[in-house]
Amino acid sequence: MGQTYEYDVVIIGAGPAGLTAGMYAGRAMLSAVMLERLGEPGGEILNTELVEDYPGFESILGRELAEKFASHAAKFGAELRTFVIVERVEKGEDGYFTTTTDDGDVYRSPTVILTAGGTPIKLGVPGEELYAGKGVSYCAICDGAFFREHTIAVVGGGDAALEEEDFLTRYAKKVYLLHRREEFRASKLVQKRVFENPKIEILRSHVVEEVMDPALGKVTGLRVKSLHSGREKQIECAAMFVAIGHTPMVELFKGQLETHANGYLRVKPGSTQTSVEGVFAAGDVADWTYRQAVTAAGTGCMAALDAERWLTATGH
Ligand code: NAP
Repeated sequence: MGQTYEYDVVIIGAGPAGLTAGMYAGRAMLSAVMLERLGEPGGEILNTELVEDYPGFESILGRELAEKFASHAAKFGAELRTFVIVERVEKGEDGYFTTTTDDGDVYRSPTVILTAGGTPIKLGVPGEELYAGKGVSYCAICDGAFFREHTIAVVGGGDAALEEEDFLTRYAKKVYLLHRREEFRASKLVQKRVFENPKIEILRSHVVEEVMDPALGKVTGLRVKSLHSGREKQIECAAMFVAIGHTPMVELFKGQLETHANGYLRVKPGSTQTSVEGVFAAGDVADWTYRQAVTAAGTGCMAALDAERWLTATGH
C-alpha cells in the first residue's frame, strides 16, 4: 500500500532543469520533491563525460556537475526520490494535482514542474532492437568501456554523436562515424577534434541498413549504404552507438497539455507556464533548439519562480 505525501511543488525529473527548479523552490521556502526514474540525479549530463561549457566550470566531469547540482538543491531543502516512475498526473476538483508513482505512492501538490527530458530516437533498422543493450547502445559513456580494443561505429552528425565518437576512441581501436549528410551540425570545435583524430574513419552520406549478424547472435558489423552511389557494403564492428537525437517525454501529459507540432510542450512566451494552470515545463521537454545544461538549468529556475508567483497569486 502506497503512501500519500503533500508538497507545494512536485518536480518530475532530476536533470539540470529539475535540480535547479528544486534548488530555487527550496530557496523560496516551498516544500519540493524531485521524482527521478533513474537511480541517480543528473539526466543528460550523466551521458556527457566532460562538460566544458557550463559557466564557472572550465572543465568538469558530467557526473561531478550532477552531484553538485543535487547537493545544491538538497542544501535548500528540496527532496529527491530516485528509481521512481511517475505513472500518471491528474488534476482534482480542488485544483490539486495527484502524481501517482509505480510504487503506489501519491504526491499531492498545487503545482507540478515537468522536467522529464527526452528518450533516444531509434534508427528503426533490422537488428537494432534485437541487439539493444548487447552491442547496440544509446549511451557511449555508459557502454563504451565494454568495447575496449574493438572496432565500433557511431551514427549521427550532431554534438552528441561527435562527442561520443571522440570519447569512444579512448577505448576502441577504431571508430567509424556514419552520417547521412555531407555536413555536420555539431559545433565547429567538436568537428575539428573528430576530423583530426586518426582513429576515426568518417563515412559521410551513409546510412545503416542492418545490424549484422542475426545468425551469429552478436553484433559483427553493419550493412551500410552510400546515398551517393546507392552501393551497399559491410563494415566490421562489435558495437553501434546511435546518437541521432531525443524525443521529449511528454506521454504522461498527452491529451492534457498542448504541444507544438513536433511534440514538444507548448509554454507561454517568456514563461514556463503550460496550457494547464499550475503546470510548468522546463528543460528538454519544451526546448528543441538549445538543449544545453545551462539553458535547462535556466528554465528550471524560471519554472520554480513561476510556480512560486503562481502560488502567491492564487492564495496558496
Ligand atoms: P541533434 O543536434 O538533433 O543531431 C542529430 C543528428 O542525428 C543529426 O546529425 C541528424 O542528421 C542525425 N539524424 C537524425 N535522425 C536520423 C536518422 N533517422 N538516421 C540517421 N541520422 C539521423 O541531436 P544531438 O546531437 O543529440 O544534440 C541535441 C542537442 O544537444 C543539440 O542542440 C546539441 O547542440 C546539444 N548537445 C550539446 C552538447 C554540448 O554542448 N556539450 C553535447 C551534446 C548535445 P541531420 O544533420 O542530417 O539532420
